[in-house]
Amino acid sequence: MESTNLLRNTQEELRQAVAALGLPDEVYDILAEPRRMLEAHLLVRRDDGRTVRYPAWRAHHNNARGPYKGGIRFHPGVNADEVKALAVWMTLKNAVIDIPMGGAKAGVAVDPSDLSPRELETLAREFIREFASFIGVDRDVPAPDVNTNEQIMAWMMDEYARMHDDADIFAIFTGKPLALGGSQDRLEATGQGVAIVAEAAMRRRGLAPRAARVAIQGFGNVGTHTARYLAGRGIAVVAVSDVRGGILHPRGLDVEALVAHVRRTGSVVDFPGTTPLTNEELLTLDVDVVIPAALENQVTESVAGAMRATVVVEAANGPTTPEGQAELDRRGVLVVPDIVANPGGVYVSYLEWVQNRHGYYWPREDVAGRLAAAMERAFDTVYELAQEHGTNLRQAAYRLAVGKVAEAMRLRGWY
Ligand code: GLU
Repeated sequence: MESTNLLRNTQEELRQAVAALGLPDEVYDILAEPRRMLEAHLLVRRDDGRTVRYPAWRAHHNNARGPYKGGIRFHPGVNADEVKALAVWMTLKNAVIDIPMGGAKAGVAVDPSDLSPRELETLAREFIREFASFIGVDRDVPAPDVNTNEQIMAWMMDEYARMHDDADIFAIFTGKPLALGGSQDRLEATGQGVAIVAEAAMRRRGLAPRAARVAIQGFGNVGTHTARYLAGRGIAVVAVSDVRGGILHPRGLDVEALVAHVRRTGSVVDFPGTTPLTNEELLTLDVDVVIPAALENQVTESVAGAMRATVVVEAANGPTTPEGQAELDRRGVLVVPDIVANPGGVYVSYLEWVQNRHGYYWPREDVAGRLAAAMERAFDTVYELAQEHGTNLRQAAYRLAVGKVAEAMRLRGWY
């Protein structure tokens, strides 16, 4: 039986990291569950006059190292345990990438493609009306995640401002539009970070990036910017997919033309000159690097057994099951875990928060340069720890992150 409960899976990794570091069990007890979680029901008057109720959660996992930080996800499959696991990962990735922030996450169980723009705006504002007391500049700083974007952050920020006498609230949300205090490079940051780490992993594997072939599952914000950045560096992205299916071009896709096609048609499918393939076929393609950039639990034991890539870079949160990881370990595949591969977004969120608080904005090169340096440093640190201790990169990253969070908790007197 495949272990697909994300919270239980991450708790098991935490337990092992706490034991390997020789830390007391209390550290595990504190980290195993969020400090608190608020559940609400968002009420939206639909265009047809019906009022529909959408369950929503925000989890505050840990703030020993700084304010709670993490995105808001809109997805029909979201549930309380998933939000908790995603909040744990935010604490860990913020420690790995070394920003002074803790971990939080929100989810709303809704299919946003089913909503009109007016209904979506109502939902975003309703979220803030329910969760306003939970967030704050020094308390909890939300951002976009799956199916949320700059426009949704703008509506949320506006609603918060209206509730708080138009206070200066830019720094409460990150991932905002540039016109509303957003940072240069925030939109691209997660994908850029993934691509930077993918190149670093290829080099460690003795693969020349320019000769490598990459497949990306998912063409949302993260998958798109990962593909763009890799292609811009002369690396062949041969296959990509989205919820409707995948496409293959063995010599490498023209990513900019593909982005224009997606803008026109809403999907990667039917991009001229490509062969169609399924999401599962994409994951098991004969390529060097596979980048899962969609949702959780995609690389299962059976998928892992059929994979031919030698490097897997987790752009999504939680795409590999524990059984999938074990199979990839057995076969010597280098898996760069989510908490090392995808903190580029939250890293630039942190830079956005800093810029908002200073009221001073940096040029794109400054932000992108800091991002690249932070991603490379985090990857190298984790890679070398893994070598030193003979573990996979996930175990090394958990040890690094848990060690840092535990030190902050000890200094605060939490245990
Ligand atoms: N949702 C992104 C993540 O999972 C970014 C979170 C943030 O910027 O706070 O890392």
